[in-house]
Amino acid sequence: MSALSELYEEIALCLKCEIAKYRTKVVPGEGAEDADIMFIGEAPGWYEDQQGRPFVGPAGLYLDKLLASINLKREQVYIANVIKCRPQGNRDPLPEEIHNCHRWLERQIELIHPRMIVTLGRYSMAMFFPGKSISKIHGTAQKRDNVIYYAMYHPAAALHQQSLRQAIEDDMLKIPSFLARAESITEAKQQPQQLTMFEV
Ligand code: URA
Repeated sequence: MSALSELYEEIALCLKCEIAKYRTKVVPGEGAEDADIMFIGEAPGWYEDQQGRPFVGPAGLYLDKLLASINLKREQVYIANVIKCRPQGNRDPLPEEIHNCHRWLERQIELIHPRMIVTLGRYSMAMFFPGKSISKIHGTAQKRDNVIYYAMYHPAAALHQQSLRQAIEDDMLKIPSFLARAESITEAKQQPQQLTMFEV
């Protein structure tokens, strides 16, 4: 059994948050264990909770299309969320849920060891770009410790707001070129700030 599968088993046992009691299935994440790119969304919705898989509802279908625009299939990347259980009524994740779930995401990042981390939406962005505004930094990248961090709007937001649609589609198209010139991108001076992830 791979280290990632073992991690999924651990995640499935986690009952730290109240929302764990109400989940149909836990949604740890999925994709290539050696993926170059890791996408991190917010939280499972209804479809994800039913299937135990990330981004399988309407936002997921759109994410698949965005991936296809850069000639990628979801099996070639890794997809996870900030929290692994569905908040009831699709409310936003609570700070304590993000805090409790953070160790799982951290271990996924360690195991996948991606070259690029793409944040989808504000909650995920807030973890890696604390204090920043998504409208300002979407489509921009920062390299820290040899990993490129890249912020994008959430596909669900872009589905519902026509004005964001062009932005998310343009931002997705920039990913291959960031990866191709990863070596030549200068490291950001500041160290990654650890998880003051509640300012969104
Ligand atoms: N939205 C997310 O942020 N994650 C999912 O898995 C599905 C919808």
